[in-house]
Amino acid sequence: MIVTIIAIRFFVNTNFKNSFEKYVDDSNKTEINHLIEFDLKSIYLNGNWDIELIENLGIDSIRKGIAIEIYDENNNKVWSVFEDEKVLSDNTLNEISKNMQSIEKKWNSYFEEFKIDIRDISGNPVGYAYIGHYASTYYMENDVEFFYAANRIIAIIGVISIGSIIIISIIISRSIANPISKVSKMTKFIGEGNYKNEVTYKSNISEIDDLINAINKLSNELNEQENLRKQLTGDIAHELRTPLTSIKGHLDTIIAGIWEPTNERLNSINEEVTRIANLVDELRKLAKFDTEKNNLNKEIVNLKNYIKTISYNYEGKALEKNIVIKYDLEDLEVLVDKEKFAQVIVNILSNAIKYNNGNSEIYVKTFMKDNNINISIKDSGIGIPESELKNIFERFYRVDKSRGANEKGMGVGLTISKSIVNAHGGEIKVFSEVNKGSEFIIILPNEN
Ligand code: ADP
Repeated sequence: MIVTIIAIRFFVNTNFKNSFEKYVDDSNKTEINHLIEFDLKSIYLNGNWDIELIENLGIDSIRKGIAIEIYDENNNKVWSVFEDEKVLSDNTLNEISKNMQSIEKKWNSYFEEFKIDIRDISGNPVGYAYIGHYASTYYMENDVEFFYAANRIIAIIGVISIGSIIIISIIISRSIANPISKVSKMTKFIGEGNYKNEVTYKSNISEIDDLINAINKLSNELNEQENLRKQLTGDIAHELRTPLTSIKGHLDTIIAGIWEPTNERLNSINEEVTRIANLVDELRKLAKFDTEKNNLNKEIVNLKNYIKTISYNYEGKALEKNIVIKYDLEDLEVLVDKEKFAQVIVNILSNAIKYNNGNSEIYVKTFMKDNNINISIKDSGIGIPESELKNIFERFYRVDKSRGANEKGMGVGLTISKSIVNAHGGEIKVFSEVNKGSEFIIILPNEN
């Protein structure tokens, strides 16, 4: 902006100087024309030179930078500003030259003269006049004053504009830089692990407020993740310790010779070992899905047959709790990794049976909506509290462990399901109400 203003100032200056020069030139020319056309015509009247008029005219003209010399027809001098008003003419012409040099150092003009005839009323020549002036543009005292005043105004406007731009820039940059540096300090602090700290700064720039909100959201999210991670480590330690303590207890007593290594005791140890193996297996599966989720082997399957084949295996388990699985399946073709996607249906369907008090029905339904393939699995089981809904897809997350306590879950089924569905470009939605039941809807893009 400063460069623009300097450029504008330069442009205005040159333009102004050119226009002003033209104006002064024009008015000097008009002055001389007036002198020739009117004034010099009345200085010779009734056979006599009107010396008083000539003198007035000469003095008046030299004050405008125009020198007059009058000669009669015999070449005798009638009046000359250079002789009769020597001091005034010298002073005035010097003054002009000094003024012009102060404006333009290189100003170095010569004095130009031209001759015109003077005639009487009848048109007979009675003499002649020399009219002289500086050949290039020249300014009189008033012109110079005006020129400097205008220049001063242009300069003042320039300085005021540059000053206001500097002040406005400082204000704007401060109002941006201050909150950004505050936000940056806070993010650094959050980055050091202080997730609970929120950026409380309120700026008056909406984009920065949005940034602050996004950072606060991120920090809350990180805080939650951090808590989940801590809980997860605790859960794994706990899950491992229980069977290990039991195994160690058994083995210690057997080694001490207190207990005989009977089949029954060895079986009990074996059961605990199986539990640990299952846990490790789940962990391995989770890690495997994490690394392989982008590696899908997709093929077209008939959704109706596919779902039925998978869920038939669970009908027996459901019947144990007196749960009937009902189907409403459309003949849809879908592009999925058969093996991995089966895991999703299995996880959700087995949860619907697991977290269920029995004596009810489970509905498995497929339908098209907004050009997406929807698979809904709806139970009338124990339901999930609303506050827990966002967590159930987190790894090792289990809603209140006392619920469905007899069901041995590790809390990874839905995590894996979600990552498989996401890898297929889809999503899982869940609607649930405690004691009423839950509905899981798998939404897949229609890729056919
Ligand atoms: P888990 O191995 O514990 O079943 P999931 O990841 O499959 O792990 O599920 C996470 C948690 O979500 C479960 O522990 C359970 O509390 C809750 N949940 C999942 N499905 C249902 C359902 N259909 N009804 C009620 N609660 C459910």
